[in-house]
Amino acid sequence: MLLPPLIATERLQLRRPRADDAPRIAEAVEETLPDLAEWFKWGELLARYGDLEDMGARAVSGQRRFDELSNPVLFIWHDHAFVGEVLVDNPSWASDRALELQIWVRRGARGRGYATEALEGVVRHLFEVQGCRTLEARIESRNASSRKLFLRAGFQPYGNLSDLNRFVITADDANPPERPLGVVVLTHPECLEHLVDDEHSERPERIQAVMEGLKGLDITVLGAPRDRASTELAHPATHPEDVDGAAPEEGVARLDADTDISAYSVYAALRGVGGVVAGVDLVLAGRASSAFVVTRPPGHHAQREQPMGFCFFATAAIGALHAVRTHRLQRVAVVDFDVHHGNGTQAILESEPNTLFVSTHEVFLYPQTGAPSEVGCGNVLNVPMEPHTSGAAYRERFADVVLPRLRAFDPQLVVVSAGFDGHVRDDHSTMMLDAEDYRWITSRILEIAPVVSVLEGGYDLVALALSARAHVEAMVAHAAEGAVDPASAV
Ligand SMILES: [Zn+2]
Repeated sequence: MLLPPLIATERLQLRRPRADDAPRIAEAVEETLPDLAEWFKWGELLARYGDLEDMGARAVSGQRRFDELSNPVLFIWHDHAFVGEVLVDNPSWASDRALELQIWVRRGARGRGYATEALEGVVRHLFEVQGCRTLEARIESRNASSRKLFLRAGFQPYGNLSDLNRFVITADDANPPERPLGVVVLTHPECLEHLVDDEHSERPERIQAVMEGLKGLDITVLGAPRDRASTELAHPATHPEDVDGAAPEEGVARLDADTDISAYSVYAALRGVGGVVAGVDLVLAGRASSAFVVTRPPGHHAQREQPMGFCFFATAAIGALHAVRTHRLQRVAVVDFDVHHGNGTQAILESEPNTLFVSTHEVFLYPQTGAPSEVGCGNVLNVPMEPHTSGAAYRERFADVVLPRLRAFDPQLVVVSAGFDGHVRDDHSTMMLDAEDYRWITSRILEIAPVVSVLEGGYDLVALALSARAHVEAMVAHAAEGAVDPASAV
C-alpha cells in the first residue's frame, strides 16, 4: 500500500516557505489533516509576523531544501526546525513510501513539549487515520534534540548500536499504556493573540514571562485545547458568542473600564477553559501529578453573564464544576491567592455545596468585595489581608485560618487561582509577598490535595516569572517526593 501523500506537492508548490504559502497550507491541511489544522493556524500567525521567511532560511541550512524533498510536509510549530523522516511499514530507507516530515519548533520553545506534542499528533494521524501499523524514523545525525524528541514521543531505537539515528514505533507502542506526565503545564500561543490597549497591564508578554520563568524545569508542556462546551458549566450557552460579538475585527475595543477585547480574545479565553478542564482530567486520571494552566485573559472576576476585570470566562470555577459534574467528586476546593478578591468564582460557586471557595486578598482593592461576612451556602471563606502585609504575616494568617478550613473540608482536588500580583514588585497592590511565599503557599496546598492551578494576575514581569517558577518548582518537588523510590520497594 502506498501511503497517500499527506499534502499533494503540486498544491503546495513549496520552494521555500513564504508568507503567502500559509493560507494554502492551511486549506490543504483542513482537508487532509483535520487534527493538525490547529497547528497550522500558527503558520498563518508566524507568516503575519514575518518569521516564516526567516524560518525558511534556517530550514535550508540543513542538507536539503524544501524543493528537493519528494513529499514535503511543512510542519510549523513555532520557530525552530527539527528534521525527521518517517518510513511506513518498510525498514529499507530508500522507498517511495517514505514520507518526509519537518517539525518546526520555536527556538525559545525548545524542550517545552511542543515538538513532542506535534510529533505525537502526526503519529496518531498515521496510525488512526492512515491505518499504518509501523513507522520507522530516521533523524539527521548528531542531532541530539531530534533524538530526544523521538524517544519522548514513544519511538524505540532501532538497528545496530552504532546507528543512533533510527527509531521505530508500532501502533501498540503509540497507544496506552499511557506514560505519566509528571507536572503538566498547559499553555497555547493563541493566548498571545488577546490584544489590549498599550497602557494595559494584562499584556501578552505575561505568558512569555511565565514560560521563560519555567525554563529548564522537569515539566511536560501541553497545548491547552479550546473548549467552548465547558463554558456552559458557569455561563449561559450563548455567552462565548455574545462576548465575541463585541470584538472588533481589528484593534482593541473596551468592554468596561478594565476589560479590553480584540478579534482573538475569546479564542484565547477558551484556551483557559480548555486548559483547566484538561488539567483536571489529567490529574484525576493520575496521568499528571499536578497542572498549571498558563493562559490569559485571567478568569476569577468573570461574571456569569458578563466579562469583568480583565476576565472573560470563570476558568477556576469551571474547573471545579467540571470535577464535580463530570468526575462526580464530592469535595473540590478553589484557593484564590490572587491579591484581588475572586468575586466571579465566588458568585458562581457560592450555591455549590460540593465546593469550597477560599480567597485571600488585599482589603479595599478592586473589586471591593470579599468581606468575611460573605459565606455563600457555608462554602465560602474570605480572608482579607491588611495593606502592606508582609510575607511572614501572610503565612501566619494562611496557616491559622486557611489551612485548618481546607483540611477540615478534606478536598479531593484543589483548583488554585494563582495570581502573583501580591508580589512586592507588583504595583497592583501594596502586599509584600515574594516568590518564596508563593512556593510556601503552593507546598502547603499540595500537602492537602492534588492541584490544578490557573494563572490569574501578576503584572510585574520579573516578579511573575520568579513567582510562577517557585509555584511550579513546588509542584515538581512534591511530585518527586511522592514518586516511588524503586530502591525502597520491597
Ligand atoms: Zn489580581
